[in-house]
Amino acid sequence: MTTKRAVQIVAKHATWLLISLATGGTLIFYFTDAPALLLGIAAGDVSANAPTWIVVFTGTTYGLAGFAREQVCTFMCPWPRLQGAIWDPEAYTVNYRDYRGEQRTSAKKAVELRLQGKSAGDCVDCGQCAAVCPNGIDIREGPNFACINCGLCVDACDGVMLKLGRQRGLIDYESWKNIERGHRNEAPVNRLVRPKTIGLTAACLALAGTITVAFATKTTATLSVQHDRDPVAVRLSDGLLRNAYTVKLLNKSSSPHSYTLSITDVDARMAVIGNDGVAPIEVAPDSSESLRVTLTAPALAQGDVVFTARDETGATVLAARDRFVDR
Ligand code: SF4
Ligand code: SF4
Repeated sequence: MTTKRAVQIVAKHATWLLISLATGGTLIFYFTDAPALLLGIAAGDVSANAPTWIVVFTGTTYGLAGFAREQVCTFMCPWPRLQGAIWDPEAYTVNYRDYRGEQRTSAKKAVELRLQGKSAGDCVDCGQCAAVCPNGIDIREGPNFACINCGLCVDACDGVMLKLGRQRGLIDYESWKNIERGHRNEAPVNRLVRPKTIGLTAACLALAGTITVAFATKTTATLSVQHDRDPVAVRLSDGLLRNAYTVKLLNKSSSPHSYTLSITDVDARMAVIGNDGVAPIEVAPDSSESLRVTLTAPALAQGDVVFTARDETGATVLAARDRFVDR
């Protein structure tokens, strides 16, 4: 450990931390009003939440990308498990054409063997394919569930083959069935339509349809009502019944809205606790308001009650149904 080495180590980890901050730490901007948060951070005017999450995201990125690395791909990422489930022997994944590459031998030895009429594989055992693999895989050992099909080994081997004047594709996107066909000297077959591809295409289309419907029917506000459980109803001294509810208004839009609350289906007097009569209720952007609401009516009035919230434009009308009961 020399001073130079210590400086190098510090510089390396400082760079890692900077990259982690720029990639993981900035993830927080995805969940909030990014320009406003950036200005807030610059002015030092943010809640403790923002810096806490920036430190958490920066730290996890530094730890996972800096130290755990391919262990994340292999053991934490769900993709390798999913890949195994959607794979079938006709699926194109990165494979080594061992029927062409084996027996491995140097280029010089291969020339000698071929001159003697003996067979020699195209793989010169240079190790380039394993050296470039971000997951530390030697694909020549066979298909590997941790392979992310990045194709770096394909490019590396193609470069070697090019230099040796040999045909590219010793490592390639190839199906396992075609590798087996290669062993039997049969031509490769491209079977794109198979039970798995049909099933997966149907699943993707169903998913895309569900997302489209969800987007098309997306609301910018919701209204929910929860009846008090205990007591369910209170009988007043004048014989009237009172039911209490928690009404929640959620404004999912990026602008403030004021909602006017009303009820139908039950002839009752509505009161919003803490609100002046039934004045419009202001709900800030991306926020919710929880209201205590009581309905007072004669006992005979029991039945379904519909709560309606209308925004100031009248364009958004939200409704939620509950019960007015005597016990
Ligand atoms: S890069 Fe190609 S030639 Fe080199 S070891 Fe890998 S498979 Fe063999
Ligand atoms: S495709 Fe990528 S992850 Fe898979 S073996 Fe090749 S280099 Fe490794």
